[in-house]
Amino acid sequence: MKTLAKTKIEAVLNQLAEKAEVYVPLKQGAISSFGVWSAAVSGENLALESLNTLMSPKSVVLPQTEKMYTFATSGQQAEVKEVCADSGERVIFGARACDTKSLNVLDEVFLTRGYEDAFYKARREKLTVIGRACAQPGPHCFCSSMGVDPLEPAGADVILYDAGEEFGWEPVTERGQALTNQLNEFLGDRELPKPSAAEFRTRVDIEGLPEKLNRMFAHPVWEELAAKCMNCGICTYLCPGCYCFDIQVKTRGQEGYRFRCWDSCMYPEYTQMAGGHNPRQSKHERFRNRFLHKLEFIHERYGTLGCTGCGRCVVMCPNGVNIVSIINRLREVDVDVR
Ligand code: SF4
Ligand code: SF4
Repeated sequence: MKTLAKTKIEAVLNQLAEKAEVYVPLKQGAISSFGVWSAAVSGENLALESLNTLMSPKSVVLPQTEKMYTFATSGQQAEVKEVCADSGERVIFGARACDTKSLNVLDEVFLTRGYEDAFYKARREKLTVIGRACAQPGPHCFCSSMGVDPLEPAGADVILYDAGEEFGWEPVTERGQALTNQLNEFLGDRELPKPSAAEFRTRVDIEGLPEKLNRMFAHPVWEELAAKCMNCGICTYLCPGCYCFDIQVKTRGQEGYRFRCWDSCMYPEYTQMAGGHNPRQSKHERFRNRFLHKLEFIHERYGTLGCTGCGRCVVMCPNGVNIVSIINRLREVDVDVR
């Protein structure tokens, strides 16, 4: 097994940063997120040992705002001047299994079923993911209940196994092997024990849930469940598997550009139509959509769930809405009451 001494991590990141934008978990004041590694970033800000960053690495493939194309107009004519799909090399270093699995979910949405999102594809094709096996789940983590193996980050190109002073370094794809060859001078070679995962304190049973939800669209329980929600949208922005976006335009004189930016199904405007009609007028309709989307619709279409059990929404919801409690409540209600 290849090994990486923790004292060499910064040297490895510097080397990677010569050829790619390298995203690492960083503490940034009160929050943490995957930020770009550079000579200006202090190694003290690296958050490899903490659990999930507050912000997931989804912005590496789906930026919060992304310019799509620039244009110029002349009378009734418009000309696209530049398409801005960004295809630079990128590396995510230290993503946990819940987040690598979420990248797989985003891949299904943006790259399959006869539809390819050119902007997502350009970013994704040049991305190498170094995953980090996670042996100490936090109190709100429940990835194993959602079919995620925390010790084997699915979709990673290389997996890091923490072994104290060093990491075990295991390439698992050709892309990961190529990266390993590139870093050979920093890597050792000896067998290390793989960690075993500690007990999860949070578990939830999802057996048969998508099928049950298929019969619960009009169930009155949604009003009860939505009562605490303020439709603030925090959960959707923090979720590594939420991907809804809006497309907007900026113009100045005869020139302008289109860009897309994250949106949230929790907002009334999300489904507001030009004529004023809104198919999801009430809070509980928007709330229901979020949970049905994650736990039923995505499963129906792609055979996987839209929640990977990262726990971010549980920790950060300002009003204590907890997806685990919601699933438990959905499991116990009588499905024939409509
Ligand atoms: S974070 Fe909580 S209150 Fe805000 S939209 Fe999500 S569930 Fe509702
Ligand atoms: S729904 Fe909540 S727990 Fe599930 S992946 Fe999204 S943020 Fe994480």
